[in-house]
Amino acid sequence: MEKARRDIRALSLDELRHFFTSHSAPAFKGDQVYEWLWRKGAHNFLGMTNLSKSHRSLLEEYFVIHHIAVDQLQRSDDGTIKNAIRLHDGYLVESVLIPTDTRSTACVSSQVGCSLDCHFCATAKLKRMRNLNPDEIYDQVVEIDKQSQLYYNRPLTNIVFMGMGEPLMNYKNTLAAIDKITSPDGLGMSPKRITVSTSGITKIIREISEQNPKFKLAVSLHSAIEETRNRLMPFTKSFPLDQLLEALKYWYDKTKSKITFEVVVWKGINDKQADIDALVFYCKQVPSKVNLIEYNAIGDDQFVQATPMAISAYTTALKDNRISVTVRRSRGKDIDAACGQLANKNH
Ligand code: SAH
Repeated sequence: MEKARRDIRALSLDELRHFFTSHSAPAFKGDQVYEWLWRKGAHNFLGMTNLSKSHRSLLEEYFVIHHIAVDQLQRSDDGTIKNAIRLHDGYLVESVLIPTDTRSTACVSSQVGCSLDCHFCATAKLKRMRNLNPDEIYDQVVEIDKQSQLYYNRPLTNIVFMGMGEPLMNYKNTLAAIDKITSPDGLGMSPKRITVSTSGITKIIREISEQNPKFKLAVSLHSAIEETRNRLMPFTKSFPLDQLLEALKYWYDKTKSKITFEVVVWKGINDKQADIDALVFYCKQVPSKVNLIEYNAIGDDQFVQATPMAISAYTTALKDNRISVTVRRSRGKDIDAACGQLANKNH
C-alpha cells in the first residue's frame, strides 16, 4: 500500500533540514526547498531547479504540496474584490481585498465555517468544518497581495483576520501563519499592519499575551452589558465581560498595544444611553479605542442598523471621554463581501 504523503508545508525549516540530513543529503537542501515553498510559491517539486532529480523524486515520494485556488472572483462597484477560495480537500472559504485611496487591506479567513453562534453574523450559520492550516492562511494573503498589485498597482498594506471563523479558536495555526507573514523569509510585513479580530476567547488572549504576539488585537464587543452581549453572542456566557477585561488588561501589560473594540449599533438593541455609558465605562478600564461598524444585513429582521443620531451619540460620548473612535463604513456589500456576510452564498 502506498504510504500517505505528508503536507510538506507543515514542516518547519529545521524539520526540512533534518529530512535531508537523514537521507544523507546536505542540510542546506532544506533551506532551498523552504525558499521554494514559502518565497517562490512552488506548486510542484519538478520546478525546484536547484535540486537534483533524485532529491526531487525523494520529496515526491514523501510529500505533497497543497495549494489554494481561486474558485470565483467577484468585484464590487466600490472596488472590493471577494474570492471564493477552494482548499485542497474541496472546502471553500472567502477572502476579500478592500482597497481605499491609501491602503490595500486583505481580509482573510481562519476556519471553514465557525463554531461560534453570533446571531448577527452569516458565517455563524455555517457549521465549523475544520481549521485552516498555516499555509492556507498564508496563501490567502499571497493571493490577495497579487490581486492588489494587479488591480491597484501596489502591494498589500494591511491584513485583518476578520473573514470566516474565529482566529483564536485556531490560534496555533493563525500564529504560525502570522510568523510567516511577518518573517523576512516570508512576506516581511510589519506586525503593526496586522489585526486579529476575536470574539473574546479570554483564556487564549492570556496565553498569546505571553508569546510576543506580532499583531494588534481587536475584540468584537458589541455590548458592554452582559445580558445584551449574551443575547447577541450566546457563547459569551462562558466568557463574562469582567474576565474578558482582565485578559485584555493582561494583554496590554504584556504588549503595550491598545485594544480596538468593535461595536455594531442596532436599533432597539444597543442604541440607548445606558448602552453608551456601559461602553464608555468599560473602555476606560483598559487602553483602547472603538471602531463602530456599520451593520451589514444578513436577512434577519430583528437586526436593523441604528440611526445616524444614535451613532453620533456614541461618537460624542466616546470623544468626550477621550476614547478615540472611528466609524467603519462597510465595503463590498453588493457582493456580500462585507463584515459578517461571508457565507459561501454563491455555492
Ligand atoms: N470571529 C472574529 C472575526 C470575524 S468577524 C470576530 O468575531 O471578531 C469580523 C467582525 O465583523 C467582527 O467584529 C464581527 O462582530 C463583525 N460582524 C459580524 N457580522 C456582522 C454583520 N452582519 N455586520 C457587521 N459586522 C459584523
